[in-house]
Amino acid sequence: MERTLAVVKPDGVRRGLIGEIIRRFEKAGLKIVALKMLKPTEELAANNYPDTDEWFKKVGERSSKTFASIGMDIKKKFGTDDPILIGKTIKGWLVRFLSSGNVVAMVLEGNRAADNVRRLVGETDPLMAQAGTIRGDLSIDNVVLGNSSNRPMVNVVHASGNAEEAKQEIKTWFNDSEILEYNRANEDEFYRAW
Ligand code: UDP
Ligand code: MG
Repeated sequence: MERTLAVVKPDGVRRGLIGEIIRRFEKAGLKIVALKMLKPTEELAANNYPDTDEWFKKVGERSSKTFASIGMDIKKKFGTDDPILIGKTIKGWLVRFLSSGNVVAMVLEGNRAADNVRRLVGETDPLMAQAGTIRGDLSIDNVVLGNSSNRPMVNVVHASGNAEEAKQEIKTWFNDSEILEYNRANEDEFYRAW
């Protein structure tokens, strides 16, 4: 079965949302096969997000698009309109934020785990996240408010973007020996044929 990584971010932990978030994953049928609370070092936080121009560009472009859509000049905020440089600045904020407090990291296992967890988590920007998703129900930040205050938007949970990213991220957060195998009593029910 596929595995993916989810991390309750420091805002989620401080707000007492650990149980609420785990409940949603577990109830949907995802099996928790690793779980720990820790205060990430800056190095661990940095390793959680790729150091590639592709990732910087993706993040920078999202910010630019949102600022443009409400007629705000992103150059004024970031001193540049180069999406890669904007992405790098945002990564710096993310590292500071993620290592600022305790987080709860977990590995979730199940059919199409990465896509299913993203579906439950919802859109990156809470303002765009549908009600019913974790970010849609539990956060009210948005990219413009966050990034114009020199911080990442806070959206209570991190989840790997896809199964490929998940493989790398699980290795970043967990040793093989921390990932456990067991059967859930109702496990077969999610995949039963009759
Ligand atoms: N982020 C941000 N501004 C942006 C894009 C991202 O503050 O324009 C932050 C936000 O906290 C997000 C994280 O950076 O959760 C990682 O971005 P990514 O695009 O990977 O979104 P995610 O995978 O978390 O949905
Ligand atoms: Mg991501």
